[in-house]
Amino acid sequence: MPDPIVVQVVVDKPLSQGFDYLWDAKQLGALPQVGQIIEVPFGRGQEIAVVIKVSAHSDYQIDKIKYVDKVSPLPPLNLALLRLINFASQYYVHTLGETILPTIPQMWKKADSWKKNVDKINEARKKNPKAIGSQKEGFITAEQLNAEQKKALEALNNPSNSGTKFRTILLQGQTGSGKTAVFLNWISGILEEKDAQVLLLVPEINLTPQLERRVRAYFPDKIMAVLHSGVTEKKRGIAWYEAMTGKAQIILGTRLAALTPMPNLKAIVVDEEHDTSYKQQEGTRYSARDLAIWRAHDGQFPIVLSSATPSLETWIAAKAGRYEYIRLDQRAQGAKLPRVHLINTRDPRNQYSPGDQGAPKTKSLISKTLAQAISKNYQEQKQSLILINRRGYAPVLSCSSCNWLSKCSQCSSYMVMHKPGALGKRSVLNCHHCGLVKSIPQFCPDCGNADLKTLGQGTQKLEDSIEEMWPQARVLRVDADSSRKSKGAEELFQEIHDGNVDIVVGTQMIAKGHDYQNIGLVAVLDADARLYSADFRAAERLFAQLVQVAGRAGRAGAEGEDGGDIYIETQYPEAPVFQYLLRHDVDGFMAYIARERDEAKLPPFTYQGLVHAEAKSLEKAIGFLNELKARLKQHGMVPIDVYVYDPVPKTVMRVAGSERAQLVIESTNRKLLQEILENIDRDLRQQSQGRISKVSRIRWLVERDPIAI
Ligand code: ADP
Ligand code: ZN
Ligand code: ZN
Repeated sequence: MPDPIVVQVVVDKPLSQGFDYLWDAKQLGALPQVGQIIEVPFGRGQEIAVVIKVSAHSDYQIDKIKYVDKVSPLPPLNLALLRLINFASQYYVHTLGETILPTIPQMWKKADSWKKNVDKINEARKKNPKAIGSQKEGFITAEQLNAEQKKALEALNNPSNSGTKFRTILLQGQTGSGKTAVFLNWISGILEEKDAQVLLLVPEINLTPQLERRVRAYFPDKIMAVLHSGVTEKKRGIAWYEAMTGKAQIILGTRLAALTPMPNLKAIVVDEEHDTSYKQQEGTRYSARDLAIWRAHDGQFPIVLSSATPSLETWIAAKAGRYEYIRLDQRAQGAKLPRVHLINTRDPRNQYSPGDQGAPKTKSLISKTLAQAISKNYQEQKQSLILINRRGYAPVLSCSSCNWLSKCSQCSSYMVMHKPGALGKRSVLNCHHCGLVKSIPQFCPDCGNADLKTLGQGTQKLEDSIEEMWPQARVLRVDADSSRKSKGAEELFQEIHDGNVDIVVGTQMIAKGHDYQNIGLVAVLDADARLYSADFRAAERLFAQLVQVAGRAGRAGAEGEDGGDIYIETQYPEAPVFQYLLRHDVDGFMAYIARERDEAKLPPFTYQGLVHAEAKSLEKAIGFLNELKARLKQHGMVPIDVYVYDPVPKTVMRVAGSERAQLVIESTNRKLLQEILENIDRDLRQQSQGRISKVSRIRWLVERDPIAI
């Protein structure tokens, strides 16, 4: 009897062990390889699995082990990727299977069409061997860069410490300072090496089409793979295949793309590195930026983090010299910075008095001062962008007689009133946390009163008041509802680009990355709502968003052109976040929050982990976490340098009928924090099936480096 061939595989389940299968080389045609994607019998069905080990032995009885069903014609996931996944799995305290399988596109999880798909893609590529783009539109060559950009490119190309191949570089410069032009030229040099691959990470799907066009224009003769949740499953499957087989040289994508196999990866760029959407919020809750840095270190190549408002972590590392630090301080095309105006909404001079000329009939969030500025901007035939971070008509419906409020029956939040539109032909109440949709009650459900009023404003109501105040103006609303309903977000953005719109009302989604040509004014109406929040990162985020938003004004102006105006309505104009913004002082603000965090011993001066618990009642969820805490203490598992807080309800405590609580664990010692999180995971796993406690039916999850506490 020859030795059996045993493969150990992982599947997409929260089961920490691998599973052994026998490999029939005659049947499968070749010997197994680590990283191979295969199909195995599992339970009563089949599962797609990845081979993590090949040997001649098993701890199980050989004749009880099942055989591998099918093996994919794909090359095995390469060792560099497996190392990355292995690290991510450990660091973010999730199993290898749960971490690796979600990175494989659906197309490659259907064993029946494996072969057919490979053939089709190769066939299509043979017919069309090169990328699509052919003209160098919008291409700014290295010669065309301004002096500051040239210096930056030189610094990228010539490391200060030439001995090291791995480098982390922060490229900091305000919006429009020409960062993209610099890193694309840098990438261009790297891609001169035959078969070299470069990964370009972007935070959100909204941003990719624009950058995609630009990248295609820069590299017409390279094959590009675009990977994000907005492309169809089929396209994603093709892009992933071309990345993992080394056919694609440029891989552009959102966070998941950080986990794509790329056999010849030579450099990474993380655009808008501070953006929170780099943190995965389900499953293995990884930070794509942090994993990208790990990957660059492991592969010994450079990584550029680009931002106008770096995350505090990154900024501190650059200041301390742990990262190289490259700055762009001018706007590339010479346009001036926008003027920032803080409108104190408590000051009556800024508000309409009854009878004022032009005062809107209905109460509007738009102050008199802002309205005058919009009118002026409109007369000058420039576009205005009005931002409010709340979609729908009004955030709450209330009874004027008994104070009934439109609470969601499933969540600890209010149902938002929506006018006819994306959610149907009639007005409805909609919960933004669980998605519940209800018709609007005619009478108060508590007291029968017919006088129900809306409180506050969302984008739809704002759109109404703008149409009332500027009846001649062409108004466009851009939010998740409007882009879902009729046109895609891209088409709405195009309307703005084409100058078919005078006043745009929308959520933050309009403010990101888009290179509008004719915006003279940007206004932010609800900055205060995000100023005082339980989350200690709120000010940092608000600042980044405001800088981002300010960058939309007067962006593409030519040499010496006006920088545009940004108006912020606030009751607290003296708040530091606004004062630093007024002076365009990004570094001043960073230094300020760094001091604050240092004094309060908050991240990045300490490290955090979270245990999430979800149950039918809050008491149960809290009780579960309390028991966990007690067990940790009892077993001496909490070292002196680690602090375990008391469990607390989450900010939005109840969602879709589940009550949610969390336990924060903190330490200045990363290693100790890691150990305790792994211990917790082990402890909870013992009493659970998957991630649900067998006794109390509580769903739990361990998270490393949470970004929202
Ligand atoms: P950032 O990435 O910092 O926001 P971009 O690279 O997108 O900046 O540049 C902003 C705008 O200026 C873009 O329209 C870009 O094409 C243009 N631009 C960049 N560099 C130059 C340059 N050296 N000369 C002329 N225009 C430039
Ligand atoms: Zn009532
Ligand atoms: Zn709800």
